[in-house]
Amino acid sequence: MRNVIIIGSGPAGLTAALYAARANLAPLVIEGLESGGQLMMTTMVENFPGYKDGIMGPDLMGEMRAQSERFGAEIVSGHVTAVDLRSTPFAVQMGGETEQTRSLIISTGASAKLLGLSSERTLMGHGVSTCATCDGYFFREKPIVVVGGGDSALEEAIFLTKFASHVTVVHRRERLRASKIMQDKAFGNPKISFEWSSELAEIKDVEQGVVTGVVLRSLQNGDAKELLAEGVFIAIGHTPNTSLFRGQLELDANGYIEVGRGSRTTVSGVFACGDVQDHVYRQAITAAGSGCMAAIDAERYLESEGS
Ligand code: NAP
Repeated sequence: MRNVIIIGSGPAGLTAALYAARANLAPLVIEGLESGGQLMMTTMVENFPGYKDGIMGPDLMGEMRAQSERFGAEIVSGHVTAVDLRSTPFAVQMGGETEQTRSLIISTGASAKLLGLSSERTLMGHGVSTCATCDGYFFREKPIVVVGGGDSALEEAIFLTKFASHVTVVHRRERLRASKIMQDKAFGNPKISFEWSSELAEIKDVEQGVVTGVVLRSLQNGDAKELLAEGVFIAIGHTPNTSLFRGQLELDANGYIEVGRGSRTTVSGVFACGDVQDHVYRQAITAAGSGCMAAIDAERYLESEGS
């Protein structure tokens, strides 16, 4: 029987692990499919306090992991396939194994959204990607399209100019959602251009099995045009990873876990932190802060239950 199981190993989960370990709760962290979370797919993180010159995303996660392990957190690789939150102890299933726990911290994060084109699915990994840091290297001196108008899209576009011959950002409106500083960087980059009020109607060429170009459709007059591209990066936001909890915890209209009073979910003893419950801030530092809150909430809950 565990005091606390933490599902997910991004900044929220690992900060919760650090605090829970230091509270002598001997937490078990189940990493999930994307160990380390979204920061593992990031390059330089310049806005995490304490690193005045910035730190690479994977290095930051390595530090967090080592710090939580130093105080006794147990981190196992594995993917949770089911949870039962109907009564305590809660049951957490990983493949054939079931762990029992007095409290649960959910930090399963969010995953990249896709456009929903069948060509996007078919060509995923063959020129279509959701991670510039992972795949940018494959597109040296090649034209690339990035879809989206937020910080992620511009961050990816800027990063990709290191490799690409040219990067075209395709956005569905005439104004970007991204922060001013990111917009300034992108507008000042000679390798980046924009296609405004446009959507990706098609990615070519499914028959060849590789990306050779895209068909853009104007959202103003419906006109279509083709653009040569050998890589297509989709950066249109994320969906919370909450399918395990549907029907057991209250979720909002977009599927994010509802929390009230700190990190408390609608089931006593179950806490949520990080991007799985935050569609507003979604920063590494806010995820880490909410992970700290979840561990403190879990500790107080266990104390109040006399465990
Ligand atoms: P986001 O801010 O939600 O932006 C998503 C973008 O994709 C928007 O421009 C949106 O268009 C577009 N979009 C959404 N669905 C679409 C669809 N089906 N087809 C075409 N376009 C679509 O997501 P994000 O860029 O991933 O950023 C998430 C959060 O992380 C934000 O808070 C951001 O500030 C933060 N972030 C920060 C940094 C940094 O500071 N270095 C880096 C990355 C992310 P509309 O604008 O029309 O809605």
